[in-house]
Amino acid sequence: MSRPSLVFAAPRRALPPSHLADLDPAARRATVRELGLPAFRADQLSRHWFARLEADPDRMSDLPAGERGRLREALLPQLLTEVRSVETDAGTTRKTLWRLHDGSLVESVLMRYPARVTVCISSQAGCGMACPFCATGQGGLTRNLSTAEIVAQVQASARAAADGLLTGAPARLSNVVFMGMGEPLANYARVVAALRRLIDPPPAGLGLSRRSITVSTVGVVPAIDKLAAEDLDVTLAVSLHAPDDELRDTLVPVNTRWKVREVLAAADGYAARTGRRYSVEYAMIREVNDQPERADLLADLLAPRRAHVNLIPLNRTPGSAWDASPKRVEREFVRRLEARGVPVTVRDTRGSDINGACGQLAASG
Ligand code: SAH
Repeated sequence: MSRPSLVFAAPRRALPPSHLADLDPAARRATVRELGLPAFRADQLSRHWFARLEADPDRMSDLPAGERGRLREALLPQLLTEVRSVETDAGTTRKTLWRLHDGSLVESVLMRYPARVTVCISSQAGCGMACPFCATGQGGLTRNLSTAEIVAQVQASARAAADGLLTGAPARLSNVVFMGMGEPLANYARVVAALRRLIDPPPAGLGLSRRSITVSTVGVVPAIDKLAAEDLDVTLAVSLHAPDDELRDTLVPVNTRWKVREVLAAADGYAARTGRRYSVEYAMIREVNDQPERADLLADLLAPRRAHVNLIPLNRTPGSAWDASPKRVEREFVRRLEARGVPVTVRDTRGSDINGACGQLAASG
């Protein structure tokens, strides 16, 4: 069998025009000055976009009408066009398909829980990591998203939540997970800039709390090390899916480059910096990675570490013969981890009936 090829370098496709959310506050002011406008216009735009979640210059009444066109063109081009949104889970889960300036499609999923509102966002159009159980991985990589395309998914979702589009009352977006399409650490510089925009207090950024942001990775070891040194302190999640290299080589092909032991060592280094646990994601695939021996092996690996296991019942993807593990097998897996003191949670399967759950995002228009 030929190995799926990993794609780290995204195809050279045009990134979208520059946007407010690509820039830090100083660069925003510089752009406005180059237009021959007073620098404080940049601060006004930032307040509208990041603090009031307003994206349309025509509704920014403190901007002179004669300047709006220029400001829109230079700093607020429309990056995301909503193609459609689908709801499920009694209106508490909402998946949105977005078209980008070049026709690429990406998805984000907004979810309301009793104590939080989370958006799951994409960092690339497609993905080059080729995991065989993931629909996004099967489609290959189209291109990296720009910083603003990443941040705009969060801004639009925060707006949707504030407008009461999720069942219940208007709500404040609290959590962001980089678990949509793409491998965030393969689009490193733009993802890090996006993280800063998410964390910076308004009007520089959206002012989300660091620990309520989770970056999930297949285990790009040098990038995990680099992220640790950025002092961002966001939560790290590692998609492990197997405790042994032999099986992980087939489930997460990047393992042929960085082994289980190296990935966990990098995650340990990250946790040592933040002082907090990282998550280990483990999709439970029937008779593939769900055996009691593998539970024990995983427990032995993780017991001495600052890690928390998040089991994900496998979501079905087109063309795959794999199934989720039976509940009985899942319970035994949990029991074995807990018996060795490893904290475990089982992730809910939000959005699976609208192909909006983990590994189901494929953005077919
Ligand atoms: N590329 C990053 C971000 C994607 S996160 C990463 O892999 O971590 C999406 C999470 O869902 C990952 O843990 C991924 O392995 C998992 N996943 C992918 N396909 C899945 C499926 N069919 N069922 C359940 N989880 C899946």
